[in-house]
Amino acid sequence: MARIVMKFGGTSMAGMERIRNVAARIKHVVGQGNEVAVVVSAMAGETDRLVGFAKEASPLYDPAEYDAVVASGEQVTSGLLAMTLKAMGVDARSWLGWQLPIRTVGAHNKARISTIDTTELLKAMSAGQVAVIPGFQGVMDTGRISTLGRGGSDTSAVAVAAAVKADRCDIYTDVNGVYTTDPRIVRRARKLSMVTYEEMLELASVGSKVLQTRSVELAMKEKVRVQVLSSLDDPTQEELPGTLIVSDEEMEAQIAKDSGMERQLITGIAADKNEAKITITRVPDRPGAVASIFGPLAEASINVDMIIQNVGRDKGETDVTFTVPGADLARSLDILEKQKESIGFNRLINDPKVAKVSVVGVGMKSHAGVAATMFKALADRGINVMAVATSEIKVSVLIDEDETELAVRVLHSAYALDAAEGA
Ligand code: ADP
Ligand code: ASP
Ligand code: MG
Repeated sequence: MARIVMKFGGTSMAGMERIRNVAARIKHVVGQGNEVAVVVSAMAGETDRLVGFAKEASPLYDPAEYDAVVASGEQVTSGLLAMTLKAMGVDARSWLGWQLPIRTVGAHNKARISTIDTTELLKAMSAGQVAVIPGFQGVMDTGRISTLGRGGSDTSAVAVAAAVKADRCDIYTDVNGVYTTDPRIVRRARKLSMVTYEEMLELASVGSKVLQTRSVELAMKEKVRVQVLSSLDDPTQEELPGTLIVSDEEMEAQIAKDSGMERQLITGIAADKNEAKITITRVPDRPGAVASIFGPLAEASINVDMIIQNVGRDKGETDVTFTVPGADLARSLDILEKQKESIGFNRLINDPKVAKVSVVGVGMKSHAGVAATMFKALADRGINVMAVATSEIKVSVLIDEDETELAVRVLHSAYALDAAEGA
């Protein structure tokens, strides 16, 4: 017997037929003698619809009311799933975030889970009752409902798994694992049977939305065993081959055991279209100039990602280019425009139609030439690189958004990641 947390995403919960399939999977896992808690997302598209209403009600909406609205999608699916399970003869009940409670801190709309009271949860689970928990939500100290940021149900699931010391956290989604890149972009993407926390963290943070970045961070910190698998397969199948997220030691041990397996240089390719580029021209080239640009943005909690400062202008001036999340572009421009005098720049240019494409791999730590391969492959296809950022295990480039899919495909082939035809 094991204690298992099962999470089902939006596509898996989209409509009663899918919910019945999810319930059948849960029944199967309970039937194997496991203690189960379930975390669910809203039906696919529902959170977008609710966000749309909130924005229509008031473009500068109150974040606490936004949370009251958007958290409702998960409330619906948790109730529906508990009902469906009961109708199938499986004891179940829903536990909303405030009922457990799942306590959160930080700001509304992007709250962080601080603690989960497991008293009721463990009581229910050990009595054989399936606890169905809406993902993405918690409660603030003020008593108000909060949400965790888009894609946050993954984090809810990992946090519940850590709190109840689950043997496993199974993330069921609409693909059967983590691939070398988004299989919807590259048909010949290869499924990874194992990926390390570090690699998954990097992939998620540069745009592989199969797992929310924070869920991977938490899993790594709390040593939660996470598996990504498909909810669309036959629910009574014994073993669903998915992707296991493992420690570096486990990966090394597996490689040592399996002589045919090689440590990959590149784990995968990810793309993120939610970036916007800002260029500030003719900034005085003197100490403190850069601080006067990024200080006010940091104060407004705007995350600046890639930065390049061009030298070479005459008269001690320079251009500074950087990226911010697309959603923060308007606010960033407003802040910078207000600082025009103190920064002392000439023009503010922006481009929301850019994308960041990244190559990720722990193996690249010890290999030179990864970036060179990337630049050559992109250049051969006429894809212009506007900015570059590197870390020990990642190289990212900023390109025109329209070229995203092409760039991902080209790089996937350039690093020989394509699966054999027909595989
Ligand atoms: P859920 O609603 O189950 O949380 P998401 O839509 O958030 O599902 O995440 C699953 C999607 O992530 C897949 O449909 C796929 O298009 C996308 N994805 C992006 N990168 C990858 C990758 N490397 N491996 C698998 N899926 C990926
Ligand atoms: N329903 C939320 C969203 O769409 C949370 C999630 O699905 O993980 O962002
Ligand atoms: Mg998701």
